[in-house]
Amino acid sequence: MSAIIDYDKCTRCGTCIERCPEDVLAANMDKSPLVKYPYECWYCGACYIDCPAQAVTLEAPVFMQFVAKPYEFAHKRQIKREY
Ligand code: SF4
Ligand code: SF4
Repeated sequence: MSAIIDYDKCTRCGTCIERCPEDVLAANMDKSPLVKYPYECWYCGACYIDCPAQAVTLEAPVFMQFVAKPYEFAHKRQIKREY
């Protein structure tokens, strides 16, 4: 998995699309983000951290759990993990 967008919270600001270094995210016709290439995600957390609406959830694979922890402490938000 990669970024999951909560379209009820998303304000279509485009920040996550702009921040993604891997072009995982693209814009839909209504400017909402589309997770176009989920397997290209390297879980950098940029979309998750910079979303002003907290509309992004990252589902990181289990091998990423230790890397992802600093983001959770810094932002007091929890990253869902697959087990
Ligand atoms: S940064 Fe957040 S609010 Fe802005 S388009 Fe992306 S998901 Fe939506
Ligand atoms: S975690 Fe990083 S690579 Fe993955 S979708 Fe978000 S910004 Fe792109």
